[in-house]
Order: sequence, then C-alpha cells, then structure tokens
Amino acid sequence: MQHDVIEGAPARHWHALADGRIQCDVCPRYCRLHDGQRGLCFVRARRGEELVLTTYGRSSGFCIDPIEKKPLNHFLPGTPVLSFGTAGCNLTCKFCQNWDISKARELDRLQDQASPESIARAAQQSGCRSVAYTYNDPVIFLEYAIDVAQACRARGIRNVAVSAGYMCAEPRAEFYAHMDAANIDLKAFTEGFYKKLCTGALQPVLDTLEYIRHETDVWLEITTLLIPGHNDEPAEIEALSAWIMDHLGPDVPLHFTAFHPDYKMMDVARTPHATLTRARDIAMRHGLRYVYTGNVHDEAGQSTYCPACGARLIGRDWYDITGWSLTDEGRCGVCDAPCAGVFEGPPGTWGRKRRPLFVDPLHA
Ligand code: SF4
Repeated sequence: MQHDVIEGAPARHWHALADGRIQCDVCPRYCRLHDGQRGLCFVRARRGEELVLTTYGRSSGFCIDPIEKKPLNHFLPGTPVLSFGTAGCNLTCKFCQNWDISKARELDRLQDQASPESIARAAQQSGCRSVAYTYNDPVIFLEYAIDVAQACRARGIRNVAVSAGYMCAEPRAEFYAHMDAANIDLKAFTEGFYKKLCTGALQPVLDTLEYIRHETDVWLEITTLLIPGHNDEPAEIEALSAWIMDHLGPDVPLHFTAFHPDYKMMDVARTPHATLTRARDIAMRHGLRYVYTGNVHDEAGQSTYCPACGARLIGRDWYDITGWSLTDEGRCGVCDAPCAGVFEGPPGTWGRKRRPLFVDPLHA
C-alpha cells in the first residue's frame, strides 16, 4: 500500500485514541485519523505518530486591503491591513464566496512561501497597521498564524482574525491571546442552517463570540451574510439581534452583507438591498448601536452614528472614509459621548484600494 509523503510542521491540539487513531481537537469535527490521512479541512494531517500542519509557511497570496473590507468599521479606520490566507476550511458552506481557496486541494497553488518574520517585516515596510488572517479560516492554520502574530506584535503590528468561529475551547484561548481584533461570521441563527448548508453547528460559534467578548480584550465585530430564503426571515433576524444584545451587549458592530450566487448556490438570487435595510432596522430596534449593510452601495447604512446624539461620526462610501467627527480618543465631536472601538488619532488615508504584495521569503 502506498502512502502520501506528508510534509508539514508539528501541529498542536490532538491526542492519540485507544484504537490507534489520532484525533484532532482544533474544531468540533474531531477528525480521527489513520496514518497518511488528512482531516476534513485537508491541511491538518497525520504523519506517523503525530499531527502536522501541511500549509505551515505557505500562503495563497498577499494583498493590502482597507481594514473596512474585513469588515472592521471600528478598528483603526482608514488604515491598510496586510491580508493573507492559506488553503482549506473546516466548514463546507455551499455558498462559500472564497471557494477557490477554501476548497483548494492542490497545495501547489500555495506558491508564496513566507516565514513569520518576513510577513511582519513586509507589513511594517508597507505601512500596514495590522495583518489579517483571512480568505480561509485561520482556525485550521493556527500554528502558523500564531507565529506570524508574535512576529507582528514584536514590531508593533496588530493582528486581525477573520473566522467563522467554529473551534474548540483550548485552541480558541490560545489563538485569541495573540489577536487584537476579530470579525466572526455568524452565518445564520438556526442549527438547521449550519447543519444543512455548512455541515457544522451554531452553538460553538456562539461560544466563540461570548468568549471573545467577555474573556479577551480582542475588538469584536460580526458579519452575517443574508441569503434569500435561507436566513433572511425577519423572525430569524429578530432572534439573532436579541441574542447579540443579551449576550454581547449593544456595542458589538453587526454587518449584514449581500449574498451573490457562488459555488454550489448558483440558483439563489442576489440579496435585495431592501432585505439588508430591513435587517439593519430590526437589529437597531433591538438596541444594537452599530449596524451596517455591506456589499451594496449604501452610504447611510455604512456610516457610523453617535449612539447618544445621532451625529454622523464616520461617513463611508464603500471603503472610503468621507466624513470624520471623532476626537483622537474616539469620542463624538458634537456631544463627547464615547464611540466603541479602537481609535488612535485621526483616520488613515488608505482609501478603497487593494494592492497585491510580494513577500520576499529570502528575507526571513
Ligand atoms: S481542524 Fe481540520 S483536522 Fe482538525 S478537527 Fe477540524 S476539520 Fe478536522
């Protein structure tokens, strides 16, 4: 019998089972592996008597984005963020909007080799205030992400996680100790949706949200992609908003974004603008202070307003900042009430551009 030659770096969060298999404990799938097998995410694999991360040090590419694109509207607005991902995913969403990366099985497509130090240096040299672990879920490459995050912090660069939050408690605590901000995808508010369309579960995601909000200093925002006929009913938006209000409080920004037909969901229409506006209205009626629409042109729905006096604090047109009425400490310029978030002086001037970046692996 022929086995794949599996290369990679030692992985953490696994244990040996009595039946000879090895169980990965990173996410609630708990993949149980014989020698030579890969987990559902494809990038964590068993090599002999250990688990390895096969994508350590390899990226699907680097890009400098506006931080608003993650989306994060209350974290160093207007600044550039160096974004990268690897390959694979631990969910199987039929509507995935990054499926070419998340479903990648050809690891050869990961051509950009980059050490943690070379990424941190590239971020600093290109003027980025933060590095984002995004495009695919960093949960599955956490050993690499954490090493990059440590190199970044040593240079004063912040770390941003873009994740679906589907992970177990121990790796969650380890991972978020190294992050400064997170946007968590709350894909829907029913177990049925997670089971049917993602082969996952809702509760671990809610646990992650509560953990980040209450057990860490990580700045948290949430994104919900509204898919017509699947998670856009007012009753579901009511339940989702009420849960956020009760469990996380009014200051966690919530982004309702528009779906476009993709991957295995080509038969569902794009989300109407009115659906996003309706969802935003519902969430704000529940008391959430910062609710946004996304993936549509909507200056009113993408701007930030003072929860005390209603003044427009940050105007946005797509990812451009078109208005600013915050003090350097993040207080309303009209009534001095605080705006929740991480604000340090005036906004950045990166704008809406997206710039691919070559990270030189030789400068490790
Ligand atoms: S991280 Fe990957 S290998 Fe580990 S349990 Fe989840 S899907 Fe399986």
